[in-house]
Amino acid sequence: KNYTAQDIRQMAKEEHVEFLRLMFTDINGIIKNVEMPIDQLDKVLANEATLDGSSIDGFVRIEESDMLLYPDLSTWLVFPWGSEHGKVARLICDIHKADGSEFAGDPRNNLRRIVEEMHQAGFTKFNIGPEPEFFLFKMDEKGEPTLKLNDNGGYFDFEPIDLGENCRRDIVLELEKMGFEVEASHHEVAPGQHEIDFKYADALEAADNIQTFKLVVRTVARKHGLHATFMPKPLEGINGSGMHINMSLFNQQGNAFYDETTQNQLSKTAMYFLNGLLEHARGLTAINNPTVNSYKRLVPGFEAPVYVAWSGKNRSPLIRVPLSRGTGTRLEMRSVDPTANPYLAIAAILHCGLAGIKERNTPVEPVNRNIYQMSEAERHENKIYDLPSTLHNAIKELKKDSTVTQAMGEHLYKSFVDSREFEWDAYRQTVSSWEREQYLKRF
Ligand code: ADP
Ligand code: GLU
Ligand code: MG
Ligand code: MG
Repeated sequence: KNYTAQDIRQMAKEEHVEFLRLMFTDINGIIKNVEMPIDQLDKVLANEATLDGSSIDGFVRIEESDMLLYPDLSTWLVFPWGSEHGKVARLICDIHKADGSEFAGDPRNNLRRIVEEMHQAGFTKFNIGPEPEFFLFKMDEKGEPTLKLNDNGGYFDFEPIDLGENCRRDIVLELEKMGFEVEASHHEVAPGQHEIDFKYADALEAADNIQTFKLVVRTVARKHGLHATFMPKPLEGINGSGMHINMSLFNQQGNAFYDETTQNQLSKTAMYFLNGLLEHARGLTAINNPTVNSYKRLVPGFEAPVYVAWSGKNRSPLIRVPLSRGTGTRLEMRSVDPTANPYLAIAAILHCGLAGIKERNTPVEPVNRNIYQMSEAERHENKIYDLPSTLHNAIKELKKDSTVTQAMGEHLYKSFVDSREFEWDAYRQTVSSWEREQYLKRF
């Protein structure tokens, strides 16, 4: 959709849009909005909408706080749900400095930089198919989320026994109205847990889609009196929520991961890309799993990965190669969770994969045994390492991995580490009920 400014003016008029929402994403993956009445449209289309950057986490200091929002016209979309004050449309924006130059601290600008690197390497597209999972909790009379689940459904349950199923169906309908091609939607393993998969798209569009998706899920859930959460592990003892990332590189000829002449029908490009992901898996973790809670999910027993390995046969490892070949040939990175900033995560994953392609190291062997049944000695012998076990360890691994830090650029790297260390420091000073239960009487 290569809309011109004139197209936008016309669509705004034809659809009776009353409000315009300018969207962008901060360093922590949180969607930010600047909303204005539609009579500001000309100003917006002239790239003159301003933003106080000092009010956004990880952006800029107060003395250089004036920023500009440059709308990406291809992201024009009218929200299908009405507001009592008229229709609302949105445009996703890039952040520029007051002098018009691109702002390096904007995760979306940064992803475009890495995509350009991919073009230089001879590829046309980095296709990303995300599998976001989420929980639906009931809300109380005040509209606050509770920890009560609204159903007792299980994986792929047929019976529409509950509110959750209706709500999910509504989410799918709204997504389709907004142009999403939903490929699958089902109840997940845990009660109250759902997954909706939509069709893959090129890197930037896929990241935009993930952000829009989260917004739609939360908005529709609220209408059903439910709170949707993408928190990775809201309840202990049951599965958490991941956001597996399916990925493939395309060139002029098609899917560059596919080669019908090799034994596993994966190309050298795919094997080198995979090498890059494995080599930098520990350094990537802080980006893919940026919250304290992310690490409560990455434990054995709940279908989330714990070890750095790949397989074409079983689902437990960090990277799985689904059976599909031809255009569908892809790698699936299973560690990523929905709290990851999709612009940062996709940029970092792509940069590491491209680094693997440059290095051309001997492909790492798959591990087709159940890693969780191996002893530590066996894992050691097979060179299978753990993913970082806490946010603190993940930040340390990030600092050691210059390939991953280059994927963020200096500005983003610095504000990301500052923000994650701040979160870890706040967390480490808290005392949990688990600790009191364990120690209060015993010592
Ligand atoms: P799983 O086997 O883990 O359940 P799914 O079949 O549900 O995986 O995942 C499908 C996802 O993979 C969808 O988002 C789909 O669009 C995406 N996908 C399919 N082909 C490709 C490809 N070539 N590159 C990237 N993603 C792809
Ligand atoms: N919920 C699991 C996770 O935390 C994934 C389940 C699945 O394979 O879809 O990653
Ligand atoms: Mg799933
Ligand atoms: Mg999956």
